[in-house]
Formats: sequence, C-alpha cells, structure tokens
Amino acid sequence: MTDLPNRSLLLDRLSQALAQAERDSTQVAVLFTDLDRFKIVNDTLGHPAGDELLRQVAQRLRSALREGDTLARLSGDEFVILLPRISGARDVARVAAKALGMVTAPFTVLGHELHISSTIGVSLFPKDGADPETLLKHADTALYQAKDRGRNRYQFFDARMNAHAQKRRLLENGLRRAIEREEFVLHYQPQIDLQTDAVTGVEALIRWHPEQRMVRPREFIPIAEETGLITEIGEWVLRTACRQAMEWEAAGLPPVRMAVNLSIRQLRRGDFPARVRALVGETGLPPQRLDLEITESSLMVDPEQIIKTLHELRGTGIQLAMDDFGAGYSSLAYLKRLPLDRIKIDRDIPEDPDDVAIVQAILAMARQLKIRVVAEGVETTAQARFLRNHGCQEAQGYAFGRPLPAEACADFLAKTPLYAVAGR
Ligand code: C2E
Ligand code: CA
Ligand code: CA
Repeated sequence: MTDLPNRSLLLDRLSQALAQAERDSTQVAVLFTDLDRFKIVNDTLGHPAGDELLRQVAQRLRSALREGDTLARLSGDEFVILLPRISGARDVARVAAKALGMVTAPFTVLGHELHISSTIGVSLFPKDGADPETLLKHADTALYQAKDRGRNRYQFFDARMNAHAQKRRLLENGLRRAIEREEFVLHYQPQIDLQTDAVTGVEALIRWHPEQRMVRPREFIPIAEETGLITEIGEWVLRTACRQAMEWEAAGLPPVRMAVNLSIRQLRRGDFPARVRALVGETGLPPQRLDLEITESSLMVDPEQIIKTLHELRGTGIQLAMDDFGAGYSSLAYLKRLPLDRIKIDRDIPEDPDDVAIVQAILAMARQLKIRVVAEGVETTAQARFLRNHGCQEAQGYAFGRPLPAEACADFLAKTPLYAVAGR
C-alpha cells in the first residue's frame, strides 16, 4: 500500500548497516515511530481514510530522509526509519525533530482536514544493542516511554525502560474491569480568582485505585482513549461530578462551578450534546455551572464538526474551557471561532523567560477575545503574584489547594469565600 520495505527487508538493511558501521566505527540509529491516536481516524472516518493518511505520512517521512536512509513500514501505523553511518545522537535528534514536524502539518484526507502527531522511539548501535532484533525492540520500548510522557515527541532508549511494555499490558487489562469494580474516585481541585482569592469553581480529576495501588491519570487515560474505554469512563466522571456539585449544595455549601475534563472520543460522538443535556437534567445541575475542558487535540479530525458541537453545547448554557492551551497543534487559527469561556495554561512562570513571553502574548490575545485565562500548576506565591500583575484572572495549583477527595473539598469550600457563580 505504501510501497515501503517491510519488516524482513528492513532487518536485512539493518544487518548490512551494522556490518558497515562496525567497519568504519560509526553508529546506526533506529527510529521507531507511530501515529498518535491513529485508531481514532480509522474508527471515525473508516479504513480507506486511514490508509490514505498512512500513504501521505509515508510520502512526507520519505521526503525528510537522505539517500541511503531507509523508511520501512512494519504494520498498521508503525514506521521505522533507519539511519546508517551517523556520528552521534545529535544527528538523530535533528532527523527525529524534522520527522515529527512533517506529521504535525495538517493533512487533507478524502475531504477531511486532519491534525495529527506522531511519537518516536530511538535506539542506537552499538550502545543499545548489537543485532537488528534487539535494536528494534529497544526502539519500540523507547516509543512507549515517549508516549507515556506525552505525545508528539521523541525519546532515546534507556536500559531502565524494559519492563515498561509489559506493565502497560497489565494496566490495559485492569482498566477493563475498573468501573464495575468501582475503583475510580474523583478528586476536586479549587480554581481561584486571582483578584479576590475567592473560589470560582473546582476541577474534577479522576483517580484510579486498583487493589490498594494508585495509578496516575497520565498513565491510564491514554490507554483508556486508545481502547475506547474512555467513553464509558468519561460518562461516569460527568455523572459523578454533576451529582457531587448538587450534593454539596444540598449540604448547605454555596453553589460551585464544576469543571470536567473531556476526551476527544466523547466529543466526537454525534449525540454528545444530547447526552450532556440529559445528564444535566437528570442530576439537576444548572448547565451554567458545568464547565467542560477540552484540549487542542480535540480539533484533530474534522475541526468544523467539533466547532459545531461546541457551539451546540455552549448554546445550552454550558461553559467551555480549552485545556493545556499552547501545548501543540495548529489550532491557534481556530481559537477565534471557538465559543470559549476560558483557556488554561500551564507554564514555568516566572523562571523561564520564554514562558513569560508566551504567557504575556496569550493574556493579551485572550483579553482581545474576551476569554478568561486560568493558570494551572501554580505552586508558589511568586508565581501567583506574577500572574496577577499581568492580568491573569484565575489560578489553580498547589499554592491554593491540591486536588482533594469530595469530603475534604467540602471542608475547603466551607472555609473559603465563593465567587458568585451563574446559575445560583
Ligand atoms: P489536567 O487537566 O491538565 O489537570 C491538571 C493536573 O495538574 C492534575 O494532574 C493536577 O493534579 C495537577 N496539578 C494541579 N496543581 C498542580 C501544581 O501546583 N503542581 C503540579 N506539578 N501539578 C499540579 P492529574 O490529576 O494527575 O491529571 C493529569 C491529567 O489527566 C489531567 O491534566 C487530564 O488531562 C487527565 N485527566 C484527569 N482526570 C480526567 C478525567 O476525568 N477525564 C479525562 N478525559 N482526563 C482526565
Ligand atoms: Ca483539565
Ligand atoms: Ca491542563
């Protein structure tokens, strides 16, 4: 389909490259790459679209390579780039960064605009293995490690990673039974108005406790997304969070806005706005007090369709926030057209001068668009002061309050003045 060498031809070329590198004391790099969330493209647009996307990706990757390099396709959306005769990791980093960039530029596939990204794991000969199979395996391990840290990045193999792939398989199996075993709970983290120090709302953050352990969301949410389990989990989160808000109110606490994280998969379902409306009706939470957080990657497939869904949600009175704003992708162009109440940013402030400049630019732009900015991960009073002085409206982070179990959060809310919320 892509006209690329397959696994056995790749192994052939790899052994030749290793022999050559041995002779002239150079190194060889194996870059194992796959597309992030490719399954979503296949599931939502069908296999012909998936195949066409793979063809275009192959074409772009090939154009990033020199003569003598090899691009092979292993299976599905897995590609391998073989770089013979390199002099060090820096050469590889350059190619890896270029390959990532090639994939983030938008694709047009059967009339759909796609914004995707990829992840790359790298192994080096002779450091990470002496034979083709080991090098491939280690590049694959590095790929999983990279995905774990977030997507759209590359990662060199590190011998300590080996147990990783196996751990992932265990997680996936556990996740399938987590809802029925009632292993999920929600914690709630306050969001603060920087001018008044009043609570403006709380964000619901999921916690998973399989068998007395605790698994972080950054570990299991991506797996839940890939396996499709996120739809069911997300629905549980929404219902639990809405109910919690109403329980607090019934217990005499002032009404609070409830922010809930959404996955792309949830948003892509055509009936999502109807489901949310039903949920809000069922729990009695005024829609103005529900705040849905989406990420830029939600606009990955068919942004137009998603924008329509967002307008429909906003039309019911629900608030919308763009999470992790500025983390990637090219949605800046869409920002104007999204019916957002808030954007959330997460930066090293004020330590990193680049971040300071970016935050100032985002604040200026948000002011123009009349969107509130919430700074996340605020850990120190110095950060809070910086943000306040630069006109950031809200903050969330350890400096104000950690994510807390429902009861502890109720105590927190009882002690802290609440910002007037709509839908009271
Ligand atoms: P997020 O939505 O960006 O959530 C903010 C993360 O920052 C949370 O991590 C929170 O515990 C952490 N955090 C808050 N204050 C601070 C701080 O001052 N310093 C530092 N270093 N970290 C802080 P958490 O709870 O581990 O969640 C990680 C991610 O998992 C979330 O990132 C979100 O993307 C995802 N997630 C969590 N709950 C859900 C959920 O119910 N559904 C979906 N789809 N995703 C969720
Ligand atoms: Ca969030
Ligand atoms: Ca965030």
